[in-house]
Amino acid sequence: MSTTAPTRPVRASGRPARRPPSRPGAGLPARVTVVGGGVVALLTAVECVLDGHLVTVVGRGSVPDAGAASPGRHRVLRALHPADPSATRAALRAHHRWVELEELLMTRFYERAGALTVLPPAAAAAGAALVESAGGTARELTAADLSHRYPHLRLDGGLGAVLEEEAGVLLAGRVLAACAGWLKWQRGVRLVEHRAVTAVDGASGTVRLADGRAVHGDAVLVAVDPRSRELLPEGVAERLTLYRQSLLHCRVPPHQARAWAATPAVAFPGTPGGARLVPPVAGTGLKLSSAAARRAVDEITDHTTDPYWQRSLEREFGDLLPGFGPAWVTAAEDSYHAAFAPAGGTAPAALGGAGYAYAADGGTSFAFAPLVARSLADRLAGVGSPGTL
Ligand SMILES: Cc1cc2nc3c(=O)[nH]c(=O)nc-3n(C[C@H](O)[C@H](O)[C@H](O)COP(=O)(O)OP(=O)(O)OC[C@H]3O[C@@H](n4cnc5c(N)ncnc54)[C@H](O)[C@@H]3O)c2cc1C
Repeated sequence: MSTTAPTRPVRASGRPARRPPSRPGAGLPARVTVVGGGVVALLTAVECVLDGHLVTVVGRGSVPDAGAASPGRHRVLRALHPADPSATRAALRAHHRWVELEELLMTRFYERAGALTVLPPAAAAAGAALVESAGGTARELTAADLSHRYPHLRLDGGLGAVLEEEAGVLLAGRVLAACAGWLKWQRGVRLVEHRAVTAVDGASGTVRLADGRAVHGDAVLVAVDPRSRELLPEGVAERLTLYRQSLLHCRVPPHQARAWAATPAVAFPGTPGGARLVPPVAGTGLKLSSAAARRAVDEITDHTTDPYWQRSLEREFGDLLPGFGPAWVTAAEDSYHAAFAPAGGTAPAALGGAGYAYAADGGTSFAFAPLVARSLADRLAGVGSPGTL
């Protein structure tokens, strides 16, 4: 990805360059209530503060919320979305905004380890061209390049890849802590923790809390997980599927440490399971996951990994990583995220008045969250264009 000059006003001091309030007709800061403690809620709150609004964040847990889908260790941001120019362009815009946010929030959370997408040779050539035409930088790697650069990955000899050297890994926990820490120091911001919201009236801007109290405002955003489906409008809630995903945290053998330090985040979309790995970055271990270890569930329960899923991941990665075995695994973990079925539900849904709900969709919502947050902040201020992000 190529870097460009920041497009939004940020200062190296981390203090916001506030824009004038943009709520039409008001001339005064709007009172915005944001429900949720995940990445979408917190980044939208940041954007609203930058717009000059008074912001109240209400979370069922702490803010940020360690129990939400957003925290954890890594989220990968890659530009390439094969055969999808608009998603590829959007990912590049998200990349630039994450770089700006590191400066604004004065926290290092974007590890530019690179991103590798393994594909058949023709698709790799087309993928590299797609990233370049969208304004990013990418290199096509041949099968020979791959075996030379990454002998610790066992790739089918007929495959190529797209390497994005400027892409990388977002350290999710640090992102959320940085947002919450920044918000705490801004004038006109209130963080209301450990208060579940039970009802939202977009038309009146009223948010009801489980303890019977209410928060009143001019605009409301609901960015909650599927545990609070009742806060989402009809047509959204019933299309939201909750998934449970198993993953493995690993320690790489000492003799491979240097090779892994130079390894990007890898997606193997062509493998039967749809395997993905995140290399050791910022003191974290190697993380292995696969679409094959993802299943739809009814509710969020525990985070313990059933041995069946652990063995299934160990088998899948045994084929991809020479020497890999259970001895590498330091921990197995199950986590949860939501996605739409059928796919494509990422547009904010109207709740009436200046009320909106946003439900995260699948494994890309963290990476795209800065774009989502900007779009939501515009809507909350009455300047958004419906149906687009
Ligand atoms: C293991 C794993 C790996 C992932 N990898 C990637 C990746 O590589 N790239 C990527 O882009 N995405 C990835 N994702 C998906 C991404 O992390 C999520 O889609 C995203 O974090 C969702 O953010 P959110 O803010 O919408 O929701 P959440 O983080 O789920 O936050 C919802 C918040 O709402 C609060 N809440 C719920 N009900 C109420 C209520 N009634 N009142 C008040 N508050 C309430 C919760 O407490 C929580 O704080 C991954 C997810 C997982 C689990």
